[in-house]
Amino acid sequence: MSKAKVKYLPVRIKGRPEFKIAYWDIDSGKKGPVLLITAALHGNEVHGSEVMRRFCPIAEKKIVKGRMILVPFANPLALWNRRPHIVSTLAHPKGKEIWDKEKKILRFDLRDNINCTWPGNPKGNEAEQITYVLSEKIVPQATHCIDMHCWSRFSIAAALSTEDEKQMEFARMSALPAIFVRGPKPDYSKGIPKPCLLSMLFNATGKLAFDMEFSGQYIIFEKEVLLGVRMLSNCSKYLGMLKGKPEGLEETIIFKDRNTQEVTVTAPENGLFAEAGLSNGDFVKKGSLLGTLFSDRTLKTTEIKAPVDGYLYAYGHYRRFCDADLADMHPYADKGDTLAIIVKSSKKK
Ligand SMILES: [Zn+2]
Repeated sequence: MSKAKVKYLPVRIKGRPEFKIAYWDIDSGKKGPVLLITAALHGNEVHGSEVMRRFCPIAEKKIVKGRMILVPFANPLALWNRRPHIVSTLAHPKGKEIWDKEKKILRFDLRDNINCTWPGNPKGNEAEQITYVLSEKIVPQATHCIDMHCWSRFSIAAALSTEDEKQMEFARMSALPAIFVRGPKPDYSKGIPKPCLLSMLFNATGKLAFDMEFSGQYIIFEKEVLLGVRMLSNCSKYLGMLKGKPEGLEETIIFKDRNTQEVTVTAPENGLFAEAGLSNGDFVKKGSLLGTLFSDRTLKTTEIKAPVDGYLYAYGHYRRFCDADLADMHPYADKGDTLAIIVKSSKKK
């Protein structure tokens, strides 16, 4: 038993009262890895916070070596805003768009997305300043990191990795139902690309880390929480910090990389898409019913069927900003909108 200590990281930002980031520090007293676990860098992504609340007593009881630093609310300003970013508003849920002179397009200012601001900037905006404090005070203590996020409920929970074998193996220990491979192993020989993701900050310096996405934002689903607690137990066991073997590794993993065959099912016309009660991760046979499309113009029903055998990686009607905007979660589809993504192959690892 190693009692978790509650510690506080003070954050001073110009124009704001000082606030503190609270975290748990569980020290076994024995040499070993120092595992940093973070959640809620985006204020609407809170599955990981509840996962940590439940994992903490398990870690206290079972830790055999090393130290754990658990930061359940890594970006309190975004949490208090109850939206993805500190600057998110009802009108601009993903932040304000800026004009990109080079590309001549309107795009979001990546500096507002705390996920893209590591290692931060003490003179930058509020997100960059929070990142800077975490980068200076917490990150250097850790040898490993798991950064927990959530994407919309329309996609399956997944561990994210590059083609780096070591990172992939660590991510696979999560026993999450899917692994999404972003791309080739980045070339860090010229140093860390700045700004970058928190996991990249680790991987670029030879430390193991991965990030992951639960399914569902603005909400806490019990099923996701259980997946998360198992993930943290498994990964800690893999690092030798908890006793025992990782669980659930025999389960099917939907493996999605650049070679994966996938089929996007789109709406053949406008209409209200009613799901047929399936869930992400379900195996669907070619020709089985995915849902119905109810035309507002003709009042006719079109059955939407699976065009191939495969696993549901994404399911339900959603549009580009479904992670932040209620309108983009609406079941009314325009012709061509995505209704499902079916991954044809999967790997059991
Ligand atoms: Zn996120």
